[in-house]
Amino acid sequence: MIITKTREEIEIMRESALIVSKTLGMLAKEVKPGVTTLQLDKLAEDFIREQGAIPGFLGLYDFPNTLCMSPNEQVVHGIPNNTPLEEGGIISIDCGALKNEFYGDHAYTFAVGEIDTETQKLLDITRESLYVGIRELKVGNRVGDVGYAIQQFTEKHGYGVVRELVGHGLGRTMHEDPEMPNYGRRGRGKKFIEGMVVAIEPMTNMGTHKIRQHKDGWTITTLDGKPSAHFEHDVAIVDGKPEILSTFKYVHKALGIVTDEEDEFRQQPLVI
Ligand code: MG
Ligand code: MG
Repeated sequence: MIITKTREEIEIMRESALIVSKTLGMLAKEVKPGVTTLQLDKLAEDFIREQGAIPGFLGLYDFPNTLCMSPNEQVVHGIPNNTPLEEGGIISIDCGALKNEFYGDHAYTFAVGEIDTETQKLLDITRESLYVGIRELKVGNRVGDVGYAIQQFTEKHGYGVVRELVGHGLGRTMHEDPEMPNYGRRGRGKKFIEGMVVAIEPMTNMGTHKIRQHKDGWTITTLDGKPSAHFEHDVAIVDGKPEILSTFKYVHKALGIVTDEEDEFRQQPLVI
C-alpha cells in the first residue's frame, strides 16, 4: 500500500533528508586515503545525533552501524571496518537519519584521492542516471517508466544495472511501497500519485549486473569484481512533479564541484 504524505509531512521529511545531506557533506571532507570506514561511521553517528536525529540504519534489520560503506567492487550494504581506504579507489556511502518520526535516506559514491577516468565516468553516469530516473517521477507515469529510463541510459554506456536491490517508498518506515527498480518496462507497475515520497537509487556496475552476497549476510559485491557506484535521492511528488528533498550541494561544495543538476527538481532554490 502506498502511503502518501501531506505537504506538512513532506516538509518534515525534507528536514530529515537534509540532515543526511549535511552528514554526507561533512564526510566528503574526511574521505581520503588512510582513513577507515569505522572512523567515518563514528563521525557520522556523532554528527547525526548533534542534529537531534537518530541514525536511521543503526539497528534497522539488525544492521550494526550508522553508515553502509561499500568500497570499490562492493555494491551496497558494506559494514564499516578497520581497513583503510586506498588511493585510487571509490567508496559508496549510504546514510539514513530519523527525525520527527520520518526518515531521510540517501547515498553518494566518493573518489578516494585521484581516480582513473574510467572509474570517474562510472560515477558521473550513475549520478546522471539518477536524474534521468527522477525526471520520470510524475503523476501519470508508473514505476516502470523510472526503471526503464534508468536502465536504457545506463546500459547505453555498457554498464550493468543491479536487479536484486531497488529503491523504495520512504516515510515513517525506511522501506515502504512501492519498490522502485532501476530497470523496467514503460507503462508498467504502480501509478505515481500526488504526495508520494520515494528513494530513487541506481546501483550501477562497471561490468556485469550480477552480484553476490557475502557470508556476513549484508555485503553485496559485483560478481566480476569490477567497481560499482550508488547514488540516491529522496524525492516527493508535489503538484504532480518531482521535488527533490535531499541535496548533494553540501557534498559538491566540499569537493568544489559546480553543478545545477538538482535545480529543475526544486520549486524553490535551495541555498546552503
Ligand atoms: Mg540509502
Ligand atoms: Mg534507500
